Amino acid sequence: MLKVGVFGVGHLGKYHLNNWKEIPEVSIVGFFDPNNDNAKEVEKTYGLKRFMDEEALIAACDIIDIVTPTQHHFPVCEMAIKMGKNVFVEKPMANTIEEGKAIVNMVKEANVKLQVGHVERFNPAYTALKNASLNPLFIEVHRLAQFNPRGTEVSVIFDLMIHDIDIILSIVKSDIKNISASGVAVLTDTPDIANVRIEFNNGCVANLTSSRISMKKMRKIRLFQKDAYIGIDFLEKNTEIIKLKKPEDTDAFSFDIETHQGTKTISIANPVIEEGNAIKAELSSFVHAIINNETPVVSEIDGFLAMEVAHQILEKISKSTSMLKQGPDASFSDPMPLED
Ligand code: NAD
Repeated sequence: MLKVGVFGVGHLGKYHLNNWKEIPEVSIVGFFDPNNDNAKEVEKTYGLKRFMDEEALIAACDIIDIVTPTQHHFPVCEMAIKMGKNVFVEKPMANTIEEGKAIVNMVKEANVKLQVGHVERFNPAYTALKNASLNPLFIEVHRLAQFNPRGTEVSVIFDLMIHDIDIILSIVKSDIKNISASGVAVLTDTPDIANVRIEFNNGCVANLTSSRISMKKMRKIRLFQKDAYIGIDFLEKNTEIIKLKKPEDTDAFSFDIETHQGTKTISIANPVIEEGNAIKAELSSFVHAIINNETPVVSEIDGFLAMEVAHQILEKISKSTSMLKQGPDASFSDPMPLED
């Protein structure tokens, strides 16, 4: 039985507790949270031990689950990894590139496992595509949310877009050639809405829009590739594949269209979406990676790569914002400092 300790029992931390309780290979030792209201509620509802000493909790566990606000991810990661513990840390993995690099190095040195909470990798609408061949040339992404002060300690890039950055990096196996980005801080001090274009060396282009000040919610990724369109709705949990019909596509709905190149048969398929809870799936997957000594599905390297792209995006936004403020002749040599 692996022993887990949870740091941070706020909104998401309670979901983690509910899911850890359902994973048979794990027992929860207790939690650490400086917030008395949250801690009292969890002591009462879950009957769990509240630790007042961070090191004592870490020492008593095999896995440390970090569900604190982003600025606390690094110090807790550092303490846990240096004590030789496996770490599950929520996204974004850390606040700065230096912290991210330090985590990657410490994990290697301590020979422990670390997984980052990029939970969309476990969304059944995405895992339904595990056997599909994904080679997109163009990707259109929309992640829109209503305003919520939780999470606004970081920009919308680190709060929401980072989920899509991670998914895109897991699909497109090519280096990034160029990033252009614009963003606007409307309700907070950092961008609340952003539009980003990522060009890859293999010719793929991804266009991402993220907003945390929308009236409606949306979490969609659309992939366009040579022979197919693939739509993934992470919110509604459905997936659609529309493509030129092949003889083996017997279970798909199909219809003919006339083109100047002759009749084409189009098939529309909706892969089976398994019932499931993505948080439980990501935590279970981490436990199995530890037990079987495998690399976690979302490793520290994946967490770092997503952070690195997110930082590049913020830098581009800072530059375009400073250019707007200073006028078209503004120098690019001294960008505004990153606020995240
Ligand atoms: P929250 O504010 O509701 O809860 C955070 C909790 O951490 C609070 O109870 C706070 O007292 C506690 N805390 C603060 N410093 C601490 C420390 N040093 N040690 C232990 N506990 C500490 O925030 P939340 O919405 O639960 O978000 C927590 C994390 O989860 C953030 O990193 C956020 O980005 C991430 N998150 C991820 C997703 C996702 O889809 N994967 C969704 C929401 C939030």
